[in-house]
Amino acid sequence: MDALPATAVQHEEAAHERRNWVRLTFDCNDRCVFCLDAHTHDGTNRDRDEIKAQILDGRRRGATRLILSGGEPTIHPNFVDFVRLGRRAGYRKIQTVTNGRMFAYPAFLRAALDAGLSEITFSIHGPNARIHDALVGTKGAFDEEVKGLQGALADGRPVVNIDVCVNRGNVKQLPELMATFTAMGVREFDLLHVIPFGRAYSEGREVLFYDLEAMRPYLLEAFAYARRPGVHVWLNRFPPQHLEGFEDLIQDPHKLIEEVRGRKEEYALLLEHDIPLDCRAPERCKHCYLEPLCDHLDEVRAALAGQRFEVLRIDAGAEHHAPVAYGGDPASRQHAAARLHRVLAERALAAGLSGHVPEDSFEDGFSGHVPEDSLDAWAGTADEAAAGMAEARDARRVELPDPRATDRGPGALAVMDHDTTSTSPSGHVPPAISSPVLDTTSPSGHVPPAISSPAPVTTGPAGHVPPAISSPAPVTTSLSGHVLPATRPGVTANPPPRRFRLPLLGAGASQPPARPRLDARALAAAARPRALWLVAPDLAAAEALAADYPEVPELELELADPAALIARLSHMSSTTGPEGQPSIAGKRLVRVVVADPAAAAALLDLPLDLEVVLLLSRAAEAWLLALEAAPPRLVLRQPARERLTESAELDLDLPAFFAALRPPVPVEAVPACIAGRPPRERPPVFDAAQLGPDGGLEIFRYARRFIDDGFHVKSLRCKTCSHEHVCKGMHINYVRAHGFAAMQPVP
Ligand code: SF4
Ligand code: SF4
Repeated sequence: MDALPATAVQHEEAAHERRNWVRLTFDCNDRCVFCLDAHTHDGTNRDRDEIKAQILDGRRRGATRLILSGGEPTIHPNFVDFVRLGRRAGYRKIQTVTNGRMFAYPAFLRAALDAGLSEITFSIHGPNARIHDALVGTKGAFDEEVKGLQGALADGRPVVNIDVCVNRGNVKQLPELMATFTAMGVREFDLLHVIPFGRAYSEGREVLFYDLEAMRPYLLEAFAYARRPGVHVWLNRFPPQHLEGFEDLIQDPHKLIEEVRGRKEEYALLLEHDIPLDCRAPERCKHCYLEPLCDHLDEVRAALAGQRFEVLRIDAGAEHHAPVAYGGDPASRQHAAARLHRVLAERALAAGLSGHVPEDSFEDGFSGHVPEDSLDAWAGTADEAAAGMAEARDARRVELPDPRATDRGPGALAVMDHDTTSTSPSGHVPPAISSPVLDTTSPSGHVPPAISSPAPVTTGPAGHVPPAISSPAPVTTSLSGHVLPATRPGVTANPPPRRFRLPLLGAGASQPPARPRLDARALAAAARPRALWLVAPDLAAAEALAADYPEVPELELELADPAALIARLSHMSSTTGPEGQPSIAGKRLVRVVVADPAAAAALLDLPLDLEVVLLLSRAAEAWLLALEAAPPRLVLRQPARERLTESAELDLDLPAFFAALRPPVPVEAVPACIAGRPPRERPPVFDAAQLGPDGGLEIFRYARRFIDDGFHVKSLRCKTCSHEHVCKGMHINYVRAHGFAAMQPVP
């Protein structure tokens, strides 16, 4: 195994932990110029029962880490109750990601920790008040947050870490920030590259995005903290090609599942109705770390729509590996609903109708701007557009399922119902009442000098914060009858549950054109691929699968245990015709993929017209290097590994191996610069593991296959390589384990 930093193994375990991100608010007491979430902020808190249901549902589906997020989660008046609910529901870790200002109030901090909060991620964006306050648009925020952080460190119970949105305004001060907070005792840093969502793009695109190559010295100095004993540095959303030298810090690709989870409704619109994400634009996507995922998705959609593939891959274990589709962000649901209505209206207007879009055909409370360029992809007919407008007018609707109607764990819910709002152990109104400084940032993002300093904390003799602190908040009553503060004037602590409405889909020509939902069998019957690639435990399982695809003439097999196949082929080799073409399940067997060199040798010994693909690994190295001549039917292939640690343990040192390999064996999935020869391309393959149970692409399954097999990266140097336009580079986990160094441009 290559020497991986000790932290890499820990980080991998953490990245594979099943997390439940739960939004508490659509509001924040800061106004960060890079806020990704600003478009969702309407000054409300999320419905308490919805939150409870999501916390319990995630736990029921196996999540072990609960992450309370926002908006700003700590301004929800039931924050402490949600922590307590999470603990009683059995989460191993209860974390919050926060601007940390509420934790400046010692009583609030203590109440949250007593309730079971085990990790606090403080969002700090500068080494000092000048930079931080300017970036978060709130004077005094830094001092409050640092006070909260120091209080948490002094308490000693929670894991304390810092996340930083790295942008043009702070990248040069990043080393200073790391030094400042390391000196305070912080040992974990999550560095998040700025991305083009929310206010970061609508207001900050000119000032936040920076040239990563030019800023490399500052970034490397900050990344170097990862090599200090006991210090953990996580990199999130950084383009991998800029992390040469720190490839083990490249974000675990499985975290993309969480990103998809947070936008699942928007992706569903794309996959089911061809409505593009409203952020889809080249100028924008070039700043986005999700670009490979979105680009590849477009390719897969096109291949499926045009049925442009020669090989259909079926994995018998795919369902077992599919991500569990729990959780999500209600903001994505709102956004998708608004987007759908907007597109229907645009289609109608594009057809020359003069009618207006009824206000009530938009879901309540959302006013997201949809860039016009994202609507260019629409090519509906005039009839469709007219019908779309008519439908918008008629406003035929269905309601989305009420999340509160979902099955809830009675025990934990009962606990919650009794525990509501008593954030102060004594039953006093907690310090959450005292809303931190309200945003008075000027539109330009500057902090005006008149901004009042954060309210001083005046703790009473009993340790309670007197309600007179800060601006007096209107008091309201919770559902359980407890006294609740509103978080800020005009904001209801628990507004009525939101009701989300969508137009009735499938009810006429106005519907966005839904893709036909073909399951794998129907797809094979319609597309008539040349070959079926079956991934199965053994021959019996493969034959059972193959029987479902009678129209596909050829077969490729990748079996975990190929023993029965080899025995069958041995027997067959004495009985096949002169062409030596074996047949399995009534299909011509053309390719067998094996990981064991002994199995490859046995197959190559048989006089059969059959390609034998050996997956490259350390176990295969000795046998391959001993070959005097290339067996004519042998092909080598570099597999994509699911984990960084697997890659470090199993992969060959590819440059050294190919330098030593004498016979000119064809190679797949290894770039020309490493193999010393251009890779042999596979014919187009469509992977049925990306299809949902009812047919059609499903975003979680797509993302999983993208991570496992489609996520390839190249180095910055590749721009000058003669193979650049055809080369895919290497799978992300190979690069995370072995680095970019072997990628050297071919003249
Ligand atoms: S790459 Fe995808 S998620 Fe990122 S901005 Fe573009 S469309 Fe949006
Ligand atoms: S494009 Fe990059 S990875 Fe591909 S052959 Fe060239 S240098 Fe190697």
